Amino acid sequence: MPATAFSVRFARELDVDQLAMLMTGLQPTSERDGAELLSTFGDSIRSDVQCSSCGKFGARVVRSSRSPRGSRAVLRQAHFRFVDPNGGNAHHPFCEFYSDDEDRSAQASLLDFGSEKSTETRAVRLLVCKGIEQGLFDQRRVREMRQWFFDLKSASRFTLTTSPEAISWTRALHRHPSYQRWIFHPAQAEMPAFNWKAAAKSQFTEDHQHLFALIRGVPMDDAVCRQAGGLLRKHYQREVFDPTVLQRYYDAAVSLAAFVAVNGGIDIGRVRPESFRLKGAPVALLALCALVLFVSNWDMNAAIAAFARLLLAPVPSDLTLGNVIGLNPFHEYAAWRVLILSAQVAAKSPGELDYDRQLAATEAALREQHRQWKKQQS
Ligand SMILES: [Zn+2]
Repeated sequence: MPATAFSVRFARELDVDQLAMLMTGLQPTSERDGAELLSTFGDSIRSDVQCSSCGKFGARVVRSSRSPRGSRAVLRQAHFRFVDPNGGNAHHPFCEFYSDDEDRSAQASLLDFGSEKSTETRAVRLLVCKGIEQGLFDQRRVREMRQWFFDLKSASRFTLTTSPEAISWTRALHRHPSYQRWIFHPAQAEMPAFNWKAAAKSQFTEDHQHLFALIRGVPMDDAVCRQAGGLLRKHYQREVFDPTVLQRYYDAAVSLAAFVAVNGGIDIGRVRPESFRLKGAPVALLALCALVLFVSNWDMNAAIAAFARLLLAPVPSDLTLGNVIGLNPFHEYAAWRVLILSAQVAAKSPGELDYDRQLAATEAALREQHRQWKKQQS
């Protein structure tokens, strides 16, 4: 249920009230809201308003619903629903708005540069205004970028069969201290306070080098793994897009974001640029970097030159130009990446995908080695 959608006629992303104001010239009020003002414009809206993500037409305005007993609290704000000629769902099945439930994660892919209040989004918003005023891009180009990313993703697909255990197994491997190398010998266990747990962990490291090589350098934390689990529940055994096709573009956008953060002289918040690759770049900056790279045909130095122009441009005269609802093209990318990596890790993992039980088995095997060795010694 997208709250905003793209109007071809007005060449920008609009919510229901904004569209009503532009189409009718009237200001929506609490008595006559935008949805009501638009009630006679159904045909033109259907052929004019596109889904921000998949680009499909067929928009209908759904009125806001308020809680009962005269309360003014809005349960669900006015939004667009995309309906095909047969009355079915018009969204592409891979569109993040395809499922009609009120999905907050879908909304998270939309960044409202105009309303966000953080330092980083304010800084990025100013740059967006400058970019539009300087003619570097406009909302039509933003829409084109979204469509380009959507088509790229949906062109490559596979059936999701990862098991839920694979995610927790991969998460546990990621957490395991694999950098320390140590080869066990039974004689070591003669130490007066020999630590079998530590020995088992070291042995585990030695036994699973091929898996650590797979996951090294891939950003992963509990939140991303929870998100990956949610995606798995939603899409298990269904055909999904293959997000790995985005990696090249994601890496480029992160590189540009880090370069801009180091050399741009703008305040981008707390995350240090050197950790963008592992912890993720600030979302608004990442989305702007994707846009600048897109309008620069993914040429890094052309994008940097465009950024220099943006940063050096005078303060824009119209700050409302930055009310771009810019799509973060890498919405849920980290979670999808973890999901796919988990499948690869699981395919290369012999035995059960249970970290604690594997460690316990490893420890038991070491103790047995030691017992055999002792027997030979006596
Ligand atoms: Zn859609």
